[in-house]
Order: sequence, then C-alpha cells, then structure tokens
Amino acid sequence: MEQTTKQTNVFKGVIASSGIAIGKIFLIEEEEEFAIVPRKIPKQNVKKEVGRFKIAVAGVTEELAIAKKEIIKVFGKEHSLLADAHLLMLEDPLLNRDVIRRINEEGVNAEYALWTVVEKVVQSFEKIDDEYFRERKNDIQEIGKRIMRQLTGPYHRAIAEAGKGSIIVAHSLGPSDTIKLKERNVGAFVTDVGGRTSHIALFAQDLDIPAVVGLKNLTLTANHEDDIIVDGNQGLVILNPDEQTLGNYKREYDSQIAEKHELEKLRDLPAQTSDGHRVALACNVDSPEEVKTVLNSGSEGIGLLRTEFIYLKENKMPSEEQQYEICKKVVHKMLPYSVIIRTLDLGGDKLMQMGFEGFTHESNPFLGLRAIRLCFKYPEIFKAQLRAILRASKEGKVKIMFPMISSVEEFKRAKKYLEEAKSELQNKGLEFHEKIEVGAMIEIPSAALTADLIAREADFLSIGTNDLIQYTFAVDRMNESVAYMYEPMHLAILRLIKRIIDAGHQAGKWVGMCGEMAADTSFTSILVGLGLDEFSIPPIAVPKIKKAIRSITLADAQDLAREVLSNNDREAAVSAIRRNHIT
Ligand code: PEP
Ligand code: MG
Repeated sequence: MEQTTKQTNVFKGVIASSGIAIGKIFLIEEEEEFAIVPRKIPKQNVKKEVGRFKIAVAGVTEELAIAKKEIIKVFGKEHSLLADAHLLMLEDPLLNRDVIRRINEEGVNAEYALWTVVEKVVQSFEKIDDEYFRERKNDIQEIGKRIMRQLTGPYHRAIAEAGKGSIIVAHSLGPSDTIKLKERNVGAFVTDVGGRTSHIALFAQDLDIPAVVGLKNLTLTANHEDDIIVDGNQGLVILNPDEQTLGNYKREYDSQIAEKHELEKLRDLPAQTSDGHRVALACNVDSPEEVKTVLNSGSEGIGLLRTEFIYLKENKMPSEEQQYEICKKVVHKMLPYSVIIRTLDLGGDKLMQMGFEGFTHESNPFLGLRAIRLCFKYPEIFKAQLRAILRASKEGKVKIMFPMISSVEEFKRAKKYLEEAKSELQNKGLEFHEKIEVGAMIEIPSAALTADLIAREADFLSIGTNDLIQYTFAVDRMNESVAYMYEPMHLAILRLIKRIIDAGHQAGKWVGMCGEMAADTSFTSILVGLGLDEFSIPPIAVPKIKKAIRSITLADAQDLAREVLSNNDREAAVSAIRRNHIT
C-alpha cells in the first residue's frame, strides 16, 4: 500500500466477521440515492466508456420496447403513450450527445457524466412556467435512472468487477451479492447497514474474510480505490491510514496468519475435553463451494446446510431435479460425514420474482411468511424440495431439519408433508432413505418453552441462537441501532438454552446449536457444561472452538453452568463466563 496524504478517518461499526484486512476500496455506489462517484477514465479507455454508455442506452431501449408490448397487450394501445415518450427521450440529443461529450472531453466515467447531464436537464425543466412541461423532469429522471441501472447493474454485477483482495464498501449487500463476493475472492467487506448476525455477516464468517457492518454513512466518505484497513476484531474501519497505524496493523495481520497456522495443527485431533468428554463439531454451510473448506477444517460433517443459495443464485425457482443434483453433490463430497439439510428459510423480498405467486409485500418480514410458514403456504414448492432431499438421502448420510418451528403442531405438520413427499417418490419408484432423521430448529421462544413436546416428535433439536436471541429480546438482528441489545450473555438466553438441552435429553434426543453463539469461545465452556452435544459453526471457527473444548474439563464446565444458572445476578453470571473464557 502506498503512503497516503489523504485525511485519515476512523469509523466504528458492528463486528460481523473477525480478522484484519488491508487493501484498496472497491466502492459499490448506492443506486437509489445516486451517490455517484466521479472517476477519471484513462485516455485509452475513453472510447470503451462511451461504448458502455451506448450499450446501456440500447439496453433501456430494449427494456422499454418490451414494456410497451406488454402494456398494449394488457391495457390497450392508448396506454402505451408514456413508453413512447420515454423511447423518444432516449433518442434526445440533449441527453445522449451531452453525456458522450462529457465522457470524451472530461474523461469521466459514464455514470458521473450521465448524472450531471440529467441534473442539468432537470434544472432547466424546473424553470419552465408551464406545469405540464415542468413535470416532464420526472420522466427525464426516470430515464436517467434506467440508464444508470443498466450501467451499474444490480450490486452483484458491480462486484463482478472487483479485483482479488479488494475491499468492498457498500451501503448494503443482498444475499445474491454474496455469491459474487466469493467468486471475486475479495479481501473483506464493510457496509453502512446490518447487524452482527445478518446473513451477510454470517456469510463473511463462512468465507473467512473480515467484515464490519452498521457503519451508518461510511459510503459517503469512502472513495473508490482509497486505502483502507478493516479491523473485524474491533469493528473498526480506517480510511487512508497514516504510516504508524498501517505498520501496527501489518504486524497484527502477520500474527493473525501465524496463529491460523498454529490452529491448523489441531485439525486431526478430536473435539473432546481434557477429561475425555467428546462433542460433535460440525459446520454451517451457505453454498456448495464451501464443502472443501469444511473437509479441511477438521470438523465432522455439516450441521446446517442453508439451502437458500439454491433459490437465490438464479433468482428463480429451481426444479426438483436441480435441487436433487445440488444436494447429491454436497452429500457425496461429505462422505463419510453426515449433512443436515435445512429446508428453505426464505422470507420477505425476492419471493415474487421466484415464483411465489400472490406473495404480497410485508412490512415485517422477520415476523411474517418466512421459512416453514412460507413452505406451508406453498406446499408444492415445499414438497419439491423435500423430494429432492429425500432422493439425495440415498447417496450419503442426510438428515432433514425444519427452520422456524414455533410449536409441536407445526413440526408435526411439516413431517406430514415429508410423509407425502415420500409416498410421491414411492409412487414414482424413486429411492430414498426411509428412516431419515428429522430435526427441529429451536429458534423461536414458543418452541424453546415447549421443546419437551417437540423433542418427543423429533430425532434431534438444533438451537438457532441467531433468531432465538432476536425473538427473545424483540431486537431485529439486522438493525445496527439496536445491536447493543442483542445479547447472548443474558440469563434469558442461557435459561432457554438449558431448557432446550434438558428437554432434548429427557426425550433421549441429541441437541446441537447452529447459531453464532456456538462459534464464540466465550460460551464454549458453559455450553459444554449445559450438555450441548453438537456445535455447528462456520468452518473458520472450527480450530478455535476445538482448541477451547480440548482445554477444559467436563467437570469444570458443569460447575460453571451450575454457578451461572443458579445465580440470578446477571453481572455475576457475566463475570463467571468471562473468567472461564478460553482464548
Ligand atoms: C439461527 O437462527 O441461529 C440460524 C442458525 O439460522 P439463520 O442464521 O440461517 O437464521
Ligand atoms: Mg434462523
């Protein structure tokens, strides 16, 4: 990194994934707010930049022509006037010629040239007395936005241009962007919005790259290509660091790498306490590409395969066959270990595009038609997934897990669909593992409080603390303004966990945890002491959790659990946990 003379700025956000990264900013411009960053285009690339603009205009022309056809078909010819007007505006030299001139003469990027021209045209329209003509400024803006969208594309298209090791700075990132983040091998990412367990944060942990979220308005200060340090250990982002800061962080980065190598030595050792109590250590996986990392991590299988990627990757409904192929591949690769496949846990946005017909906007998606509820509303989609998983169960060791279960009735209903899916396969003569194990995720307080009833019906329970904490404290896990309330180290949570584990054991079932809490060494001792049978965590966390488990005794862990749970004083509980924190 070159030494910079630019102003150093430090931002504090929410830790999403630990580690240090040092590099150059790849700024994702916020499309809706049009925080367009001017960029100098090297002379030899100016022609290409003009070409980009022309392609974008052609793209909008095509878009409008298709829209016009649709409008005529659905509403009649008289309603196509607006599309015609927009098509005419696209050809207007006022817009076209000026943008191209700016790119050529000023050597600026197409986005910036376009937006300055649009603003100029809008301003001139605002001066017109006639109301009708004055209002045409909205049309110009709309056209401008459409071209802009063609230029920048959805976020993931912009990310596709990021160089290896670059640091993504964005207002927010959607689930489909995550696939691009992986493909581009980025060094880290930071976002204005988001909380500690937002899915994008979990994705960063799985990818083993540092991330800080909830930085509020970092994107307004950050410049494309500027130097940046991401300190995922402290939730800090440093723009244009001075020499001394840079030196300190480079040393920290080196020792981080050395520690990683040290932990790798633990890979082939079992996850057992020093007095011989063995626990299972599995991984959370968000995409099939991670399977290799899982196999290298020293874990024993997949404790949570989030299947959402299958739906989000193409942004459309996958067929049963496609789902089967994906599941089969993962299951095969993981042999001799088992894979717990969680059924679809989607909600909120994205659904309409994917074939969930009749899905309407929800103001509170986390409390709405999410996960198993969505599957109940769309049983054919649900059963297609179940059939795919069942068929894959023939190819290796598979278990099924239902997310967002709120009651035993709901769990039974999900199992009924599973039985239907089995009969459908039987009717077609397709094979599957008849006695496939079925588990319930316990991540809603109502399920935690009735875990004894659910445990009787399930083969295993898996505690989803990310949501359990969210729903227990009524605190949105994505909202940085209330991130301080998101507190795993609270008696409310610890009591619920104890209750779930005890309920499972009384019914003779094993209990795992696939929420983030399982990957935090502060809680390893108390969770072992409470009797947790399985830790399912991001692959990156496997060595440190294994090290933590191997450095305690079951007896001490049980003492700690007793001390913390019998003590009604929160401060005392926190300090006991901290005293036993294994680093
Ligand atoms: C959880 O809620 O703890 C969990 C593991 O599921 P997700 O993070 O995918 O909601
Ligand atoms: Mg969850």
